[in-house]
Amino acid sequence: MAIVAIDGPAGAGKSTIARALAKRLGVQYLDTGAMYRAVTAEALRTGRHLDDSSAIGSLARECDLHVGLDLVTIDGRDVTAEIRTPEVTAAVSIVAAHSSVRTEMRRRQREWGDARGGGVIEGRDIGTVVFPDAALKVFLTTSPRVRAERRVAQSGGDVDQVEMAIVERDRLDSTRPDSPLAESSDAVVVDTGHSSIDEVVDQIVALLGERG
Ligand code: C5P
Repeated sequence: MAIVAIDGPAGAGKSTIARALAKRLGVQYLDTGAMYRAVTAEALRTGRHLDDSSAIGSLARECDLHVGLDLVTIDGRDVTAEIRTPEVTAAVSIVAAHSSVRTEMRRRQREWGDARGGGVIEGRDIGTVVFPDAALKVFLTTSPRVRAERRVAQSGGDVDQVEMAIVERDRLDSTRPDSPLAESSDAVVVDTGHSSIDEVVDQIVALLGERG
């Protein structure tokens, strides 16, 4: 089993679809956003300056980071819930923009894929930079409004505010110099706005079948 790269902007349904796809294929799944979120949670907890690329880079290199299906730990601390808080969500794109952090996360992500001989990996730069030779690259997206409405249906909030936060996070993620959020030229773009999870998973499985 080779790498299936699932990329796309915030709230496009990547995690739900990537998890369901991995389950369907009987392979493992890695949420790379959770890795950046865990480093961010630890940086906030230890009072590091978010702009301090060197300090946050050291943290990224030295931490013991575990991202599992239902458990995320950093240096043995369970941060599964903490990484989804608004504080972490608001800060993560600043932390993820540092090359010092990205270089280390890329190394860990490649190690994860190599150790398993493949799997489903979800993020922003998996098809473009981390695994440019992935067997299949899927870019999941839909309009910011639909993404915001879905988020609000799941976890509440004001649609306009959630939409603004999503647009701002996408702006930061797609304008950073190191491995920005972007569609790989050879990715299959799937609009998740009008299909169910199962339909999108079916579509990806069919694409994999076509590629043998
Ligand atoms: O996917 P999720 O929304 O949890 O990702 C959180 C943040 O982590 C993104 O907004 C982005 O700043 C960063 N990220 C990244 N590269 C990845 C995955 C996530 O920069 N491969």
